[in-house]
Amino acid sequence: MVTVKKSKLLINVNAVPNGVTKISKELDANDLDLGHLEFCSPIKVDLELTKNANNVRVTGTVDFCLKLICVNCLEEFERQFSEKVYQEYIRVAAKKIPFVEQLEEVDFIREYYSQDFFDLSPLIHDIIILAIPLAPWCRVDCKGIE
Ligand SMILES: [Zn+2]
Repeated sequence: MVTVKKSKLLINVNAVPNGVTKISKELDANDLDLGHLEFCSPIKVDLELTKNANNVRVTGTVDFCLKLICVNCLEEFERQFSEKVYQEYIRVAAKKIPFVEQLEEVDFIREYYSQDFFDLSPLIHDIIILAIPLAPWCRVDCKGIE
């Protein structure tokens, strides 16, 4: 898929002051290449960027509401999600971007970049995808198809 529009979560590192910067955005499914999902309201992203030299730690929450189909009764229902964000962006020279052969635990939250920009969209995209249950139930005591 070719995306020509600019990411709404592109961070210009040079424009981020040292210390803590808060970012709040409301996004829709297409902003995050999630057009195949049905959201009941805008996706709310509340982040804190903590910059220390050229490294930026990103923490916060992604709040969203999804329309899902219950695997038990096949009815559509809505579920609210609030997911944590924790990621560090480490700036390195392009040729020094480490090739990670074996994932260490810390590598799951570490991302390397070499330009003046990094994009938070893939991170938020993945957080949403991973939060969705594979076999959602509308409620714990769903009676199924009656
Ligand atoms: Zn159900």
